[in-house]
Amino acid sequence: MPHPAGTTSAQPDRKSVFVLSLDCEGLWGVADQPALIQSGIINQNSLGMAYDRILATLARHGLKATAAFTSAFAASFEALQSSRPLIEEITQAEPAWFKQISGPLRAGTPQALNGFLGNRFWHLFAGQGHEMAWHGGTHLSLGENTARRSIELELQLAQTLAPVAGFKPTSVIYPRNCVGHQALLQAHGFTSYRKAPWQKQGGALWRRVCQLGKEFNVLAQASCQFPAKEHAMVAHPGGDFLNWPRGARALATPAMTIARWKSLLKSARVGGRYLHMWFHPHNLITAPEMAFTFEAIMELVAQEVKNGCIENRVMADQIFLEQLSCPT
Ligand SMILES: [Zn+2]
Repeated sequence: MPHPAGTTSAQPDRKSVFVLSLDCEGLWGVADQPALIQSGIINQNSLGMAYDRILATLARHGLKATAAFTSAFAASFEALQSSRPLIEEITQAEPAWFKQISGPLRAGTPQALNGFLGNRFWHLFAGQGHEMAWHGGTHLSLGENTARRSIELELQLAQTLAPVAGFKPTSVIYPRNCVGHQALLQAHGFTSYRKAPWQKQGGALWRRVCQLGKEFNVLAQASCQFPAKEHAMVAHPGGDFLNWPRGARALATPAMTIARWKSLLKSARVGGRYLHMWFHPHNLITAPEMAFTFEAIMELVAQEVKNGCIENRVMADQIFLEQLSCPT
């Protein structure tokens, strides 16, 4: 029986795998939400508390993540300032995305960029041995609806703003999960990406309803679908968002979220299952209870790892490439 595109069949003789990917972007990721930017809720201080909490939790349990940073967020203030001509060029090409960003950038002070600066967090993650991946140059969509020229400028910015000389990420997490331009990214050295967590079919509202519905399934079973080769890259299944209990998502309580992940992890004990959790570190700022659900679930993951039931991997791990060469 053929497998869905971008997946391989379950291999029960293999251990199950847990991957955590983080979309690290600060205010770059919410550039189209002026009210949120102006509220000041997401700032250097609150970002620091969220990132430090996540790092401490991972370190306590010896777990590794794929930390995908937006280049402009990962860059130092000085590097960001010296790259302004290139950022201006991207702004000319994509004025809508930069409507809220241009003012703080042109002001040219760290104070004006409060909430846009994540260089310290990049170095903390890198220093603790996590996989450092890419989440776009300025968080502009890298999806198929964005012009190739704009993607090329984003890639150029990524090189210019590399937080350390020679830094070349190999995994990409697409901003807003808008997937596209794989051949261009592959030509720039990327070998893996995370797919969108939803099917292409259906409108945005239907997608949201389907994604929300998942949060109430406290008997959820881990997927048998492993990463597979797609567009000459390793395509990781879209994974499961760690619930952000705000708006309609608040109907799924933290207790339900923990129960859901407990069930997912228990189902993975049979082997051959693939679990991928993702969220944005800044989600912990607007929903502080997420810090507790994250800690509780990481404790459960660490226990499964300790018991030999599951392996903790990052997206760039060689095993995913090896698995692609297995007969399916
Ligand atoms: Zn993002």
